[in-house]
Amino acid sequence: MIKFLDLERITHSFEPGLSEAVNRVVTSGWYLQGRENEKFEREYSEYIGVSHTVGCANGLDALTLILRGYKELGVMQDGDEVLVPSNTYIASMLAISENGLVPVLVEPDMETLQISPANIEKCITNKTKALMIVHLYGKCAYVNEIGDACRRYGLKLIEDNAQAHGCMFEDRRTGSLGDAAGHSFYPGKNLGALGDGGAVTTNDGTLANTVRRLANYGSDRKYVFDSLGRNSRLDEIQAAVLSLKLKRLDADNSRRREIASRYGNEVSNPLIRIPDGIKVAGKDNVYHLYPILCEQRDRLQEYLKEEGIQTLIHYPIPPHQQKCYARKGILSIPAPLLVSETIHQQELSLPISPVMTDDEVSYVILKLNLFK
Ligand SMILES: *Cc1c(COP(=O)(O)O)cnc(C)c1O
Repeated sequence: MIKFLDLERITHSFEPGLSEAVNRVVTSGWYLQGRENEKFEREYSEYIGVSHTVGCANGLDALTLILRGYKELGVMQDGDEVLVPSNTYIASMLAISENGLVPVLVEPDMETLQISPANIEKCITNKTKALMIVHLYGKCAYVNEIGDACRRYGLKLIEDNAQAHGCMFEDRRTGSLGDAAGHSFYPGKNLGALGDGGAVTTNDGTLANTVRRLANYGSDRKYVFDSLGRNSRLDEIQAAVLSLKLKRLDADNSRRREIASRYGNEVSNPLIRIPDGIKVAGKDNVYHLYPILCEQRDRLQEYLKEEGIQTLIHYPIPPHQQKCYARKGILSIPAPLLVSETIHQQELSLPISPVMTDDEVSYVILKLNLFK
């Protein structure tokens, strides 16, 4: 059986260093807000190319804290609008909704599966305060047009980098392209912890301090509370794990790209479509996922399962059709989401990970090409 993502194999490939790192923290007697966090935050800032990293509990919190920080700083208020791609994972939108802001859903492009720059301007109103781009599937969603539009309309550019650690736009990393970025270290992500974890990266020192305060009960000094905060922290064990795994991230992403090149070059079944923007494996894609499109997606998934290949759908139900967004007024949909709905009906993600062997990749390609 070829697993979609063999986390056990991935974790094992970091041994014995991983257990040593965990043990170092266990025996240190210090489990939160300590040296491991300081070290990881410094290393991650250097890696992403920003001046500040603030560790937090998970990726959803990272995005939520950025927007909460902007509200705290008076940049946004209840009812303001944030543009977001309609085909993203729902967490991007939840972060907006949780802050009393309104997600405005922007259609993606069928060839990149990323937010379509051409659709952005049409969705801007006088309430729009930010654009949240999502480097979905590990592919860079940023293009110069997006930066230009944000400058022209005075919008904050927020990156959801949960799926794209290490991805590049020209010579800069995603997570350093906008005003602030949220990162997730959920175990299955390209840089994954052994549990939940997240971080905010930014070059804005005021925002970084605000996020850090909000994530620590609203306090900068012990027992002094300036904001109504929450508790959202990265623990020392996860920080130590992430420091270790960060060292191999570029090599792991290169391996993902090698596998992606093989899928792009060798899958030749006319029933399966690989969007052009996915097919060419450059540094603007770290292939967190390998999405293909097929009109008979469910039948293809069942066939692959019978052949011993596990696949997943990202995502089966689009956010705007979820029950949590059924209430009127909490979501803005300026135009019909036909592209998004097609993607949700046809998308299937193939197995991809740095520990997948060449033989396993060959087997997946062989079976894909035999599908009738
Ligand atoms: C995983 C993910 C998140 C949320 O991260 P968690 O750490 O699971 O809270 C947000 N956005 C996207 C695009 C994701 O894939």
